[in-house]
Amino acid sequence: MRKKPFQKSSLLAFRSALYSALFIGIVVGIAAHFLLDTTLPKSFLLGGGMFLLSGVIVYFVTYKQQFHRLKVLDQINKNILKKRFRDYEELQTKNHDELDYLIKQSVRASKTVEREIQRLNRIENYRKEFIGDISHELKTPIFAIQGFIETLLNGAIDDEEVNKKFLEKAMRNVNRLIYLTRDLMEISKLETGELKSDIQNINLKETIMEIVNNLQYKAEKAEVLLKTDIPKDYIVRADANQIKQVLINLIDNAIKYNVEGGKVTVGIKQWAEDESRVLVYVKDTGIGISQQHIERVTERFFRVDKSRSREDGEGTGLGLAIVKHIIQAHNEELFIESTPNVSSSFSFTLSRADFPTSKAERTN
Ligand code: ADP
Repeated sequence: MRKKPFQKSSLLAFRSALYSALFIGIVVGIAAHFLLDTTLPKSFLLGGGMFLLSGVIVYFVTYKQQFHRLKVLDQINKNILKKRFRDYEELQTKNHDELDYLIKQSVRASKTVEREIQRLNRIENYRKEFIGDISHELKTPIFAIQGFIETLLNGAIDDEEVNKKFLEKAMRNVNRLIYLTRDLMEISKLETGELKSDIQNINLKETIMEIVNNLQYKAEKAEVLLKTDIPKDYIVRADANQIKQVLINLIDNAIKYNVEGGKVTVGIKQWAEDESRVLVYVKDTGIGISQQHIERVTERFFRVDKSRSREDGEGTGLGLAIVKHIIQAHNEELFIESTPNVSSSFSFTLSRADFPTSKAERTN
């Protein structure tokens, strides 16, 4: 059986001792014979004695110097192999030699592997959770479509009164699946970092006006007044398409979760906390969100009222999660304030490009 290293003796120290003792023994033997004129047997004896003495000394000195640290190194590597990650804070490396360097490198490797394993575990948990959420979300529309088609096949197709209604309902659920797929693709790209923000100088007023004009028909349909409050124009550093997506999701919600005759205001103002940034807000006079739900509305698939979210067929429960990701990718802040049955305000910061010491310019 192969001898296990790091138990009692050190092979490394033994080898160093053997080579240096051999060298010392031979040199002493030769020197004694030729320089001191000692007889050959005496020279042998002297050389042999020196070989033993220096061997023992070198062995113990090397052993003391290296063995403990080699054992430490061995333990760190064993821990890494067994995925046991310790805190090596108290480990002392004061010899400043190659062994200390290797110990430090191993501690660093242990930390890196630990972090990587934690990251992979997080991704794995996220993946499991995500798949669970998706299957749950897909189930409802798929079963609904199956139900309508089955009823039609079982005879309802010939019933003039219901056949069109059932087909329309099936179609609405197909649309839900389409919206869900669209948002899922968007969020997975954002979460995996595949969708990088293309930061450019953009005209904020123009961007807002384009989205507000596009959503005007929706507001009118819901009998909600959609207006803007933009006293001053700003050039900001942002990804235009992503900011448009944020605005669409926020304004869409402000219309959707509003009341008949309600109001939605989209505006820009200087952010009080940092003059290099502006605050874009979407304020509504809708149903509001209770305090306990505010923190959760940006979670994937979280909805305060599931049926209301799905009423128009577009509510996927991913809109605000997408908003949060885009704002985070811009290194900006998102704020949500709300009073149930009174109003809600969703606002986010953007860095001014026209401000001399703006964050955007500092990081460029
Ligand atoms: P959804 O597709 O359900 O609208 P979102 O992620 O956009 O998904 O929003 C999550 C939930 O947050 C909504 O279901 C709704 O309950 C709540 N919510 C979002 N915006 C508003 C708002 N302006 N007023 C009231 N509730 C809102």
